[in-house]
Amino acid sequence: EWCDVEDIIGVVLRQMRETLQNRPLKVEIPSGIPLVKMDFSLIEQVLVNLLDNAVKYSPPGSEIAITVRQEEQELQVAIADRGTGIPPGDLERVFDKFYRLHSPRHVSGTGLGLSICKGIIDAHGGKIWAAPRAGGGSVFTFSLPLNEPPPTRVPSARGGVEGDR
Ligand code: ATP
Ligand code: MG
Repeated sequence: EWCDVEDIIGVVLRQMRETLQNRPLKVEIPSGIPLVKMDFSLIEQVLVNLLDNAVKYSPPGSEIAITVRQEEQELQVAIADRGTGIPPGDLERVFDKFYRLHSPRHVSGTGLGLSICKGIIDAHGGKIWAAPRAGGGSVFTFSLPLNEPPPTRVPSARGGVEGDR
């Protein structure tokens, strides 16, 4: 299915409205990004997992940024927080099944969210990685390949990010 990433972000932001309330959100989506062939509900699940983590592992009220970028042959979506951050040695292991860092606060979880994200992104031929955020916190980025020429864009019926937030 050819999808507009902006639509998926819009759906996820509406779905997570309560979780994200009181969070300054910075959403950056360049206009005219190409459509990407993907499974809408699976990529939606990836975004929900990443935003759920961003909220869970950062202080109440701290900013969360969602940035979409087009690189040569891929579309990249980054979720950045001002949270606890991840030690350099754990940046890859956080994607392992059941892997959880020792957290000073008692935050519940099974350690499956990121391994599911990785499975979904792998299945799309993309990549997912974690990095420290300049100034503190973490950035989780996933990429989706843009290999086939996408169909011409038609006006979106799903409302994008601006609709009904
Ligand atoms: P689940 O997602 O299954 O409810 P979880 O959040 O613990 O549980 P993952 O989403 O797979 O599991 O994340 C694995 C671990 O990576 C987390 O337990 C946490 O220690 C660390 N982590 C994930 N996202 C972040 C983040 N944004 N900032 C800091 N640490 C993170
Ligand atoms: Mg999680």
